[in-house]
Amino acid sequence: MNRLRVVLQGYPLKSDRGWLGWCNVVLISTSEGYFLFDTGSYGDRKELLDSLGNLGVGLSEIKGIFLTHFHFDHAINIELFENAKIYLSEREYNYLTNSTFEKVSDLYVPKFMISYLLSRNPILLRNNERVLDDIIAIDLPGHTPGSMGYLLESTKTLIGGDAVKNIKEFYNELDTLLVFGDIKDFRESLKKAKRIAVNFVPGHDSMFSFEKNVKKLTDLEVIIYSNTNWKETAPKEFKIT
Ligand SMILES: [Zn+2]
Repeated sequence: MNRLRVVLQGYPLKSDRGWLGWCNVVLISTSEGYFLFDTGSYGDRKELLDSLGNLGVGLSEIKGIFLTHFHFDHAINIELFENAKIYLSEREYNYLTNSTFEKVSDLYVPKFMISYLLSRNPILLRNNERVLDDIIAIDLPGHTPGSMGYLLESTKTLIGGDAVKNIKEFYNELDTLLVFGDIKDFRESLKKAKRIAVNFVPGHDSMFSFEKNVKKLTDLEVIIYSNTNWKETAPKEFKIT
């Protein structure tokens, strides 16, 4: 069986400053080597490298990266893994290369990364394609038209990307705030996810299992660092000369 590890924990966090975009990054160890599912964002970079380092996995040992979609918070760190093959759905590839993402005002596609992606000669996946011994690519369109999940067959575990964004939206079948594809597709993808899997790695939340009810499989804890020596001081007067 393939071993799955969450190397960066996803969080369902939003703020009035915008959403934080902390997605789950999963490492799977297979007979063919190590593979990553999504890569996190810029602000996660050091934590991603530290996490892999703590597991004794070097950057050059990552054989491939499977992207759920090409939003910055999932895809931007592909450039750290120069030896890895990049996999994404053919539909997502078309979404990027025929500029549909611009027509639907998808601001979260890192536009200038597209030419970099092309330079990596990505491998394009279709629905139900077997990508590794136990893992099948599954079209889950809606959040983006080319969103793709990855199903670990033996354990019925779905790495869902933002088609299964967080527990609240999944359980209540809420429309996610960001749908750049067809909303009907998004709803259908959520139902499909429920049909085919029991365990879920959502885009941005704790891993969970679901049959009739949700059971969280990992605990979430956000540690917010602040500079404790910092004190608010009364504004001083400045002379402008
Ligand atoms: Zn996301």
